Amino acid sequence: MSRVPILGIAVALAVTGALLAQNTGTVPVAQTDSQTQVAQQPQEQYVYRVKQAVKDSERLLGLGSDVLEERDGDDLFVLGDRAEGERIRAAGFATTVESVMPAPKWAPPKAQRDAGPVTRADADETFYGGYRTVRAQHAHLDKVATDFPALSSLVTYGQSWRKSTGKGGYDLRAICLTKKNAGDCEQKPNSAKPRFFLMAQIHAREITTGDMAWRWIDHLTANYGKDAEVTKLMDSTEMWVVPITNPDGVEIVQQGGNSPKLHRKNGNDSNGASCGWGGQTGVDLNRNSNTHYGGSGTSTDPCSEIYRGPGASSEVETKALEGLLGKIFPDTRGDGDNTAASADTKGLMITLHSYTNGIIFPWSHKSGAKTGNDAKIRAMAKDMAGITGYTYGTAPEVVGYAASGGTDDWVYDKLGVPGYTFEIGARSGACSGFLPQYSCQDSTHWPKIKPALMYAAGKAAAPYK
Ligand SMILES: [Zn+2]
Repeated sequence: MSRVPILGIAVALAVTGALLAQNTGTVPVAQTDSQTQVAQQPQEQYVYRVKQAVKDSERLLGLGSDVLEERDGDDLFVLGDRAEGERIRAAGFATTVESVMPAPKWAPPKAQRDAGPVTRADADETFYGGYRTVRAQHAHLDKVATDFPALSSLVTYGQSWRKSTGKGGYDLRAICLTKKNAGDCEQKPNSAKPRFFLMAQIHAREITTGDMAWRWIDHLTANYGKDAEVTKLMDSTEMWVVPITNPDGVEIVQQGGNSPKLHRKNGNDSNGASCGWGGQTGVDLNRNSNTHYGGSGTSTDPCSEIYRGPGASSEVETKALEGLLGKIFPDTRGDGDNTAASADTKGLMITLHSYTNGIIFPWSHKSGAKTGNDAKIRAMAKDMAGITGYTYGTAPEVVGYAASGGTDDWVYDKLGVPGYTFEIGARSGACSGFLPQYSCQDSTHWPKIKPALMYAAGKAAAPYK
């Protein structure tokens, strides 16, 4: 498809949006309508290598560029359309094309608002060669709860932005897996068993991560009573899983996107509804947490990929997640960046992202900052890096720039629980990037992630001992 008619659609949308805004006094909504999403076909995306950008990363982030969560030495990488490379070059950065991601091809599933209640059959709904839709993930949770009632408890902990505003959307859902005794999986902080918390797809376009969560749920339930290691873990530990942290964003991804870019942020377009060609609405939920909010690696521009939102925990998805975590983990850490959490702390959290083959831990809000539990947190990261073959460190150490307001920093800051970010997948070569062939989940990603998650879950009983 040539670019001219697409631009025509974008202009038409902008005009429609402006008219709507004038007529109703509200923000334009035209760009999120499911019909126009279908009309806007995704385009090929370029990954640009920006040479020696680590030393000037704040300026690069300030351009509003989609800086990827990866680095190579002092080089950083930016995702964008054909024009983006010129824009970065014009700002004085030496830039080359690293790779071209082909436009994704799949038939978009129906939008949630048109599709009625989730049924068991929806567990088979996939896109892009096998990746599960939000409906499929939710049907899967229901199916597991039905098939394994002695091992699972379902939790609805909130609503997505679209659902909370009457625009379709989804419930926010978790599952707690364990060999259930009375009192297990209750939303109370002082649980009898330690808790391991896994979450995926807070960044919607990182589609490998939701698939890892799906497999983790199946691994724990299907192998209980068969695999000694799984059985021991399920007898002793509560395994919490949020497979889709940002369902509105994932719906945009599976629909082909509300813009030509792969969608990273949530579905909230009320802070600036029209980003024009190449921009994306929404809030970056991994910059919105109430920890060092507004610091490095965030933006006040609603069209930036690292838009932090209008305030700390402004987004319903953030608030609900923080609420859930606060209910299931006691606070074991005092105030101040250097204060250590209690050595008696139980629990461990992993948030799955893509990509750079890295394992990241706090503090990520500032270069050079170390937590009061750095030695233990770093040692566990080193072990998991050994299992996966990934690199490890804080965000400034691994990806070359600080990122404040992230979930991993938050869970450590507010509760004392060690929080890790896994960045799954390589930058180049087979099974790299945001959209690896689905077969990569079997061949490459799950074989690395499964043993790392087993290791992490085993550490939840006493992570600092
Ligand atoms: Zn991410």
